[in-house]
Amino acid sequence: MADFYVTIGLEVHCQLLTRTKMFCQCGTDYIGKAPNTLVCPVCMGIPGSLPVLNEKALELAIKTALAFRCEILPQVVFHRKNYFYPDLPKGYQISQYNFPVGVNGFVEFFTQGTKKRVRIKRVHVEEDAGKLIHEGLGLPPNSSGVDFNRCGIPLVEIVTEPDIHSPEEARDYLVMLRSMVRYIGASDGNMEEGSLRCDANVSVSPSPLELGTKVEVKNMNSFRSVFRALHYEIERQKRVLLEGGMVIQETRHWDEREGMTVSARGKEEAEDYRYFPDPDLLPVAIKPEDVEEIEKTLPELPLERRERFMTEYELTESEAGILTQEKDIADFFEACLREFRKPRLVCNWMLTEVLKNLNELNIDIMQSKITPGSLVELIKMVDKKEISGTIAKDILEEMFVSGGKVKEIMARKGISFITSEKELERIAREAIEKNPQSVADYLSGKEKALHFLIGQVMKMTRGQADPETVKSLLLKELSSGE
Ligand code: ADP
Ligand code: MG
Ligand code: ZN
Repeated sequence: MADFYVTIGLEVHCQLLTRTKMFCQCGTDYIGKAPNTLVCPVCMGIPGSLPVLNEKALELAIKTALAFRCEILPQVVFHRKNYFYPDLPKGYQISQYNFPVGVNGFVEFFTQGTKKRVRIKRVHVEEDAGKLIHEGLGLPPNSSGVDFNRCGIPLVEIVTEPDIHSPEEARDYLVMLRSMVRYIGASDGNMEEGSLRCDANVSVSPSPLELGTKVEVKNMNSFRSVFRALHYEIERQKRVLLEGGMVIQETRHWDEREGMTVSARGKEEAEDYRYFPDPDLLPVAIKPEDVEEIEKTLPELPLERRERFMTEYELTESEAGILTQEKDIADFFEACLREFRKPRLVCNWMLTEVLKNLNELNIDIMQSKITPGSLVELIKMVDKKEISGTIAKDILEEMFVSGGKVKEIMARKGISFITSEKELERIAREAIEKNPQSVADYLSGKEKALHFLIGQVMKMTRGQADPETVKSLLLKELSSGE
């Protein structure tokens, strides 16, 4: 089969974390609210009402543009993008056209083991549209309703240059993008809830020297769907070309259930939207000193942090990647290290037990009851062999749910701990004395007898000893008794 060059450009919308909408005082917390309860004349587009810019939205968009290393334009202009759709009561969307917030940026991330750079074409702000509802909420059968609660919620749109060349790269780019907007507090980046949406432009070409005709794929609501949709679409376009056909420039919808893209409409051009500057909104001058102020609020970003973790704590690229993807996890890890500077040990606990518990409970670390102090206390006790790894895991589980210090939990659960190896040694000796037959068996070469003895000690300590330590203590006793 002939080789094809795959080209992908992504357009991602993120809902900005403002308390109120972009041009009015209505709240943005629409999830779970009754339809059309977060609306006013401005976001409903009632003639005569006037929009007032929410400066926080602009600030968050500038912050996003800065994180993506864009040049910030000295003046931003709001344009009306005109089109008709039932969820757009004004008949236009306030967006940006030739004067967006930022242009010519880039982002770097790891993909398939190497660092990749994708250029960012533009970052702009715009308002969201409402939502059509086709079922539920007491709707009569075969009818649709419209909910305007989402109208006017501020979004930032991040558009890449066509620098992505596989579905894997697209997924890794999205993971980095989400991580970044969450780090900077611009968006919660939740794709399932619609606060992060991705439109994927994709083309295939027989030659790397020229781009093929692009198709825009919409309607994916998870990273996995983006990945699957791109895969499907690439194969479809290759097939069209191999059969001697031509790819048509169009918008296609991803059908999650069928696992395929279906033609939705021909591609509209910018002219179709009759963009013009919104006469109700003045252009906004962006002062360099304001940009500087915003830049100062940027935290260390995920990629820098990952690279620092690799050098400073000697972690592998993948360990550092997992630890730095979520800012709260990375902060938690470093808080632990401030109390106990053993990165390798803390990293192992974080990547296995801590993440496992968070996954099982399906919560963020901030929602859990565990603190860096209590995790460190636990790790130290295991490190000093005061409690066994197994017991520690039980205690940890408890920490996630009800919180508390290690010793409190142990008291609550009736766990006593082995204070010293001396104590364990005494118990090991006792086990040996009580089980002469097993000792004889072991000494005559029956390995199994040793396991029995280990089991006895574990029983006597009610599982609170570390089996490896028990084994070595028993071996020591048995060889000295010879
Ligand atoms: P339009 O004017 O049609 O919206 P843009 O130039 O704004 O096109 O690009 C929209 C998105 O499509 C960008 O993310 C861009 O990188 C991507 N893109 C442009 N050309 C191609 C192509 N031939 N194949 C894949 N993606 C492309
Ligand atoms: Mg476009
Ligand atoms: Zn409103």
